Amino acid sequence: MTTVNKSDKDRVVIFDTTLRDGEQCPGATMTFEEKLEIAEMLDDMGVDVIEAGFPITSEGDFQAVSEIARRSKNAVIAGLSRAHPKDIDRCAEAVKFAKRGRVHTVIATSPLHMRVKLNMTPEQVIETSIANVARARNHIDDVEWSAEDGTRSEMEFLCRIVEAVIKAGATTVNIPDTVGYTVPEEYTRFMRNLIERVPNSDKAVFSVHCHNDLGMAVANSLAGIAGGARQIEYRRRRAADRMHRQRHRRAGRQCRARGSRDGHQYSKRRVSLVEQDRHHHADAGVETGIGGDVVSGAVQQGDRRPQCIRA
Ligand SMILES: [Zn+2]
Repeated sequence: MTTVNKSDKDRVVIFDTTLRDGEQCPGATMTFEEKLEIAEMLDDMGVDVIEAGFPITSEGDFQAVSEIARRSKNAVIAGLSRAHPKDIDRCAEAVKFAKRGRVHTVIATSPLHMRVKLNMTPEQVIETSIANVARARNHIDDVEWSAEDGTRSEMEFLCRIVEAVIKAGATTVNIPDTVGYTVPEEYTRFMRNLIERVPNSDKAVFSVHCHNDLGMAVANSLAGIAGGARQIEYRRRRAADRMHRQRHRRAGRQCRARGSRDGHQYSKRRVSLVEQDRHHHADAGVETGIGGDVVSGAVQQGDRRPQCIRA
């Protein structure tokens, strides 16, 4: 008979980013009430971590994250922040009402992203990461650091920066496959190699976050776990879709009601637009599922943020 080791070290943390990464998919914006409803559902389901939003992006997102934090029961409530002090402070402010809050800070680590997007040297990226993690730790004990475009980063550099951010206080280290580039065998090797080579890797939980550009998100996520990661980040398409279907049905009913008053032609045209929009949402989903749900979202267009982050 197989003995199941249930120690915390072997436990896989379930991190749901439907409300952050999922919402960044084109056309998948949710209302304040929809976000609260989904967060409550996820908390009741026993999800370990709920990434509730990206507080610096708008007052609305800040309010949603704050309210979800206030209402949280068991789940850790996380917010995303870029590698800027203001982002981190705003994020910490939003999650502070949670029983357990987390600040998640992301910075790009691949040569291409550092050079072209950040216009920073690798040394500057290390220094900035240390400063941001330390700043976040001054606010809160639970800090996640993400290496955007992690799977296209150089291993030597990644080992150095991961060791540095853990030393600075990062409790979770996330290595996203930001552009959906990796394959399972490679990701297993990559995570194993990283965890083995970073001297203080036992002080943090390593995390996977895969995009489904080539249909590999689920396989890659599981492969990352096989390589030693102990957190999976994903989003649920069904939760968001259910909200959208409800909204479209309401919109459709409204169009029909208006149509009966304003004339058939108007009604038909509006309902048809609503239907088209619904199909667009279905097509815009770039994820596949674990247990019928969905792993990870990706921003392909319509990014509303000041600086594109595709974590
Ligand atoms: Zn993502």
